[in-house]
Amino acid sequence: MRPTYLEVNLSQLKKNLEAIRAHVAPAKVMPMVKANAYGHGIEGVAPFIESYVDYFGVALVEEAIQLRGLGIKKPILVAGGTFIEQLPLFFKHDLTLTASSSDLLIAADQLAREASTRKRLKVHLKIDTGMERVGVHEYEAEEFLQKSPACRHLEVEGIYTHLANSEILDSDSKLSATSKLVDSRIQLERFQEVLRFYEKHSLPMPMRHVCNSGGILNLPEAHLDMVRPGVLFYGVYPGREIEKKIDVKPALTWKSKVAYSKVTLSGRSVSYGSLWQAEARTRIVTIPCGYADGYFRRMTNQARVIIHGKSYPQVGRICMDQFMVNVGDDDVQVGDEVILLGGGITAEELADWAGTNEYEVMTNISARVPRVFI
Ligand SMILES: *Cc1c(COP(=O)(O)O)cnc(C)c1O
Repeated sequence: MRPTYLEVNLSQLKKNLEAIRAHVAPAKVMPMVKANAYGHGIEGVAPFIESYVDYFGVALVEEAIQLRGLGIKKPILVAGGTFIEQLPLFFKHDLTLTASSSDLLIAADQLAREASTRKRLKVHLKIDTGMERVGVHEYEAEEFLQKSPACRHLEVEGIYTHLANSEILDSDSKLSATSKLVDSRIQLERFQEVLRFYEKHSLPMPMRHVCNSGGILNLPEAHLDMVRPGVLFYGVYPGREIEKKIDVKPALTWKSKVAYSKVTLSGRSVSYGSLWQAEARTRIVTIPCGYADGYFRRMTNQARVIIHGKSYPQVGRICMDQFMVNVGDDDVQVGDEVILLGGGITAEELADWAGTNEYEVMTNISARVPRVFI
């Protein structure tokens, strides 16, 4: 196996899930395992946690099919936009559709009627309360909801919305009248208003869900019937200022090994573009990992790694498959272990070095890096 790999602590993920569940009970929990389980490796993560979850959430129908291929039996919600041409896949693989428009709802019902199977297709209606991504606006939702009881070949199992700014802590002070930020509480109110439809028409209330990680932490009144944790399930908080009120921890350690070790003379510059120059004789070691593995090129001359428990600076342009580290006078040799993430280096730090967020740091670790599940 490659000396560069990602160690994934599955029992930590299970602990995170349990901590979230205890916090939101009696609400159900649908961990989001899209984007290769936020980079953790869906093939290891999903089967391991299956018996502890109520539902799985993914973005793409392709991801849901992959889960079925892994033997997952629990219900799977495809949360992203779906094309009408993809609808037959929902029947074939027993998936839950996000009905984000009347057209999709009606097309699904028609297809279900024509299908030989007697099982109804499960759908969750998607209401857009301020994200402006997919879903029917709350002010047009009544007409949308009215269509659903007539869709006799569908089972409207759920209804949901998605928060745009849930990680913002004190919405009262930060979201002033002049701010463009949509307040989560206003989104929740809009959603609750839509739900009155069911009382008004004495129809059974579908399963209601609103909360991503930020909502789970900041908006307990929005936990409702189910929550959809993503980043928090992976042990990372969705914002820097958010109160750490659920005991979750990261589960990733990105490791490599020194592939080459040499002493460089004063004045010699390192790597493409000569962006770093040795001011004195120093030991430069080469790590067999690069931006093609998801170690962002933008972190050049900013990132740090840990070798023998000590932090060292990355120097010179990060290459596609390799990068260099300045270890000074220390005795670092070929084969020594190098930690790129975890073990004292947080996803937040990598995000800062790369000018991005923790989500992108995790999802960017490429398929070329083997995942080792422990
Ligand atoms: C990705 C996603 C989530 C999870 O978001 P986090 O901020 O990672 O918790 C929840 N709901 C939907 C619809 C999503 O697409």
